[in-house]
Amino acid sequence: MISAFFGDRFGYSPNISGFTPGRVNLIGEHTDYNGGLVLPAAIPLGISLAVGLREDDQIRVSSALYEHIYVGRIGDKAQSHWADYVIGTIHKANNLGLLSTGADIAIQSDLPSGAGLSSSAALTVGLLKLCRDLGSHPMSELEIAKQAQTIENEFIGVPCGIMDQMAVALSPPGQALSLDTFTLDFKLIEIPGNVHMAVIHSGIYRQLSEGRYKVRKEECDIIKKRLGRQDICRMTDTEYSNLSDLPATIQNRARHCWSEHRRTKSASLALKSNDMKLFGSLMTESHQSMRDDFEITLPEIDKLTEDAVKFGAYGARMTGGGFGGCMVACVDETILDEWKSRVLKQHPNAFYVC
Ligand code: ADP
Ligand code: MG
Repeated sequence: MISAFFGDRFGYSPNISGFTPGRVNLIGEHTDYNGGLVLPAAIPLGISLAVGLREDDQIRVSSALYEHIYVGRIGDKAQSHWADYVIGTIHKANNLGLLSTGADIAIQSDLPSGAGLSSSAALTVGLLKLCRDLGSHPMSELEIAKQAQTIENEFIGVPCGIMDQMAVALSPPGQALSLDTFTLDFKLIEIPGNVHMAVIHSGIYRQLSEGRYKVRKEECDIIKKRLGRQDICRMTDTEYSNLSDLPATIQNRARHCWSEHRRTKSASLALKSNDMKLFGSLMTESHQSMRDDFEITLPEIDKLTEDAVKFGAYGARMTGGGFGGCMVACVDETILDEWKSRVLKQHPNAFYVC
């Protein structure tokens, strides 16, 4: 299907195509740039990409979301345009020696963009993998994830951590990726078959580049500077009490990093031992910490997660960078349909994603 779409848009057959899933973060929010643990899992939705090689340095990008074809060149700077991620990735692929020309790229996606489900990482990781697979240049999935992160950090200017790229590059469907973002050690944990990690979009959209994400990162930088360590999620009780002369807001941000890291550790153990009650209550606590200490939720999403639990989920939390996007809830398969319809009835702007 993606090859046919590529043919329609560019008039020839692509050299390579593939599908990359999005991911949902089950727990561990804003810990990935603070040296803490995260627990994302791949979802069935994702992005299909097809690439055709060119002989010049042009980059043409066509997304099924838009009618027109965007035309850029290797070396172009970001233009605050939806095609920036692709331009940045083809530029990077040339720098890494995976490509030595421009390319035509077609994109089809069933992943809502800007919803905290890593459409940007699916694009950059997926495209880098295809560029690698086109040639004979070996590159591990881990290296691809790291390079994809630099595209977002340096080319786009979003100071995101490594979680999205690692999750998209490494986690197979049906398993969660317990990732230590400081050491990059990871292990896969099976998600029990009797529960569903339901993703519901709040109907509120946001963009990471908007700035509020950046502000949280800068607040964490103050804590890093004070403690002289990057992995502030692992600060000791004594280090936490040494922050007492900083503004209350900064202390609250520190408490979220500290507690979220510990919750994520407990949640990985709970998932492993199939204790979904405990897993769910840790998700709900995570939401409360994002609401009260990190202050990245919105009243509508607070209500959505409260109703999710009221109607029978083991637990629920906003997922992603914040200020909109999706909720993830851990729901027993036996009540899923009824739960879904009750939640959606209360929240007419929300919609079920997967
Ligand atoms: P998230 O990664 O949470 O979905 P981001 O703001 O990080 O949100 O990335 C969204 C960006 O990724 C969009 O603004 C756009 O540039 C790009 N993108 C995602 N999906 C598509 C698509 N189907 N076609 C074109 N660009 C896309
Ligand atoms: Mg993103």
